[in-house]
Amino acid sequence: MTSQEPIGTQSPDTGAYAASARAWIRGNLTDALRTDRAHVPGASLGDKIAFEAAQHRAGLVGITWPKDYGGHGLTLREHLEANREIGLAPMPNAVNSIGKELAGPIIMAVGREDQKLDLLPKILKMDHIWCQGFSEPGAGSDLAGLRTRAERTADGWRVNGQKIWTSGASKSQMCLLLARSGTAEDRHKGLMLFAVPMDSPGIDVREIVSIDGARSFCEVFFNDVIVDEANMLGAPDEGWAAATRVLSIERATNRMYRAWRFQSEIDHLVAACRSDLRAFAILSEYKRDIAEARIAVENLKGHVETLVGDLLAGQQIGPRGSFPKLYWSEAHQRFAQVAYEIVSRLPANAGQPLADLKARMELLYFSSRAETIYAGTTEIQLDIIAKRILNLRKAG
Ligand SMILES: Cc1cc2nc3c(=O)[nH]c(=O)nc-3n(C[C@H](O)[C@H](O)[C@H](O)COP(=O)(O)OP(=O)(O)OC[C@H]3O[C@@H](n4cnc5c(N)ncnc54)[C@H](O)[C@@H]3O)c2cc1C
Repeated sequence: MTSQEPIGTQSPDTGAYAASARAWIRGNLTDALRTDRAHVPGASLGDKIAFEAAQHRAGLVGITWPKDYGGHGLTLREHLEANREIGLAPMPNAVNSIGKELAGPIIMAVGREDQKLDLLPKILKMDHIWCQGFSEPGAGSDLAGLRTRAERTADGWRVNGQKIWTSGASKSQMCLLLARSGTAEDRHKGLMLFAVPMDSPGIDVREIVSIDGARSFCEVFFNDVIVDEANMLGAPDEGWAAATRVLSIERATNRMYRAWRFQSEIDHLVAACRSDLRAFAILSEYKRDIAEARIAVENLKGHVETLVGDLLAGQQIGPRGSFPKLYWSEAHQRFAQVAYEIVSRLPANAGQPLADLKARMELLYFSSRAETIYAGTTEIQLDIIAKRILNLRKAG
């Protein structure tokens, strides 16, 4: 597809919208960007950024954001349609998912009008990549225990503290920072959100190499970093409510394509194994696991579609966001383990399709280990469901 006109404006009905999205992805997803072509040298960060900016111009990103803020002014229905197509294609994970799926929605919810007009279009155009500075060495599941301090100065706030597990911090221009104006004993009170430019003097970023070889994780140190008053997001003390909202968005609607990506990974595994009799024999031993993974995918699609229907009907998601996060991460991690076992048993001379599969599934296995940790661990999701949905009390 060569047209520069956004997809949504060409095809207002959702069936045609999905077809246009599919055609755009097919026409623009190069072999270097594809995650199922391990034998081709991978795309550079710059290529991935350019691809994401092109997705926005084509109408696949910022779908529900108002046009005044650089979005396409459509509904969650079109967002879901686009995400189905994104999931089914072997596309790389978004470089700026934190900008688009966390910082953007929170700026829209609590930001001032001048902040929205300034910051939101830059996210979609990929001028600003964002990271999320919430977790600290002593504050992960228990986020209210965070210690990073923001003290008032004459012209803004002086920030001191340390963040950890900050995905993508070394390539980000902006940080969605959660800090506190009081002491750690204040817990939920006095928490504040800031939009902090990552080139501010006093910010020190150190990369941590993760098990899959990626260099996304970082430690971020704030040493007397001065943050302008204008960069505070929402009112002082509103940080906890805003952060909780961010986390419920993160669990419920973030990466809406996940069920379809999961489906395409199963399809890839089965199709590649069918290309070789020896591989197919190994796969056949795992029939039951594959069937369970396929059932999980269908359940997940149902979850997502119901959620979108409810949101379109004006309902709040609240703690229900824990269900898809819990269900997807557990089922996907189980599948990744099975896929890893299968590819580990493949013969060495299995040919290109199986070599590509092996590389993809090995990476999937390592990256899936984190899925039950980030955006709230499995135990925390179970706790939320037990207390806030089922109203269960602690025994004893
Ligand atoms: C891939 C990845 C990317 C991440 N990206 C970011 C990011 O960009 N920005 C950011 O701010 N953070 C990020 N994180 C951090 C993530 O949010 C935390 O790792 C997570 O919240 C868990 O916190 P923790 O690591 O401190 O573990 P802890 O909270 O110390 O938990 C350790 C263990 O104890 C269990 N546990 C803790 N409390 C309870 C309880 N009350 N009941 C039962 N069990 C409990 C947990 O389930 C876990 O098994 C990322 C993490 C990963 C793995």
